[in-house]
Amino acid sequence: MHELSIVESLLALVLEHADKAEAEKVVGVNLVVGELSGVVDEAVEFYWDFLTRETIAKDSRIIFRHVSARLKCRKCGEVFLSSENGYICPKCSEQQVDIIAGRELFIESLEVE
Ligand SMILES: [Zn+2]
Repeated sequence: MHELSIVESLLALVLEHADKAEAEKVVGVNLVVGELSGVVDEAVEFYWDFLTRETIAKDSRIIFRHVSARLKCRKCGEVFLSSENGYICPKCSEQQVDIIAGRELFIESLEVE
């Protein structure tokens, strides 16, 4: 489970930002998760609850925002999202596409008190 190390680094970042903002409590974390990041929400939540127990992020929740993969057609250069037409070019039906984005995983914003 690679989620554990991911959550550890996310938490470190969250606590660093919360500290800078002089927050007393972290209430929520808005997390952007790319479709191809390979991260499972439930695993992230599980480790989050576990790792935050002794921190000011205790009882905070993660709000997941899933983003589609961004693809580029190798034939016509069309850029599209996987949510539009899967992994097939919507313009020329080519199946050879390059992945431009979709593996991202980052904190979009924090809710603190
Ligand atoms: Zn195309």
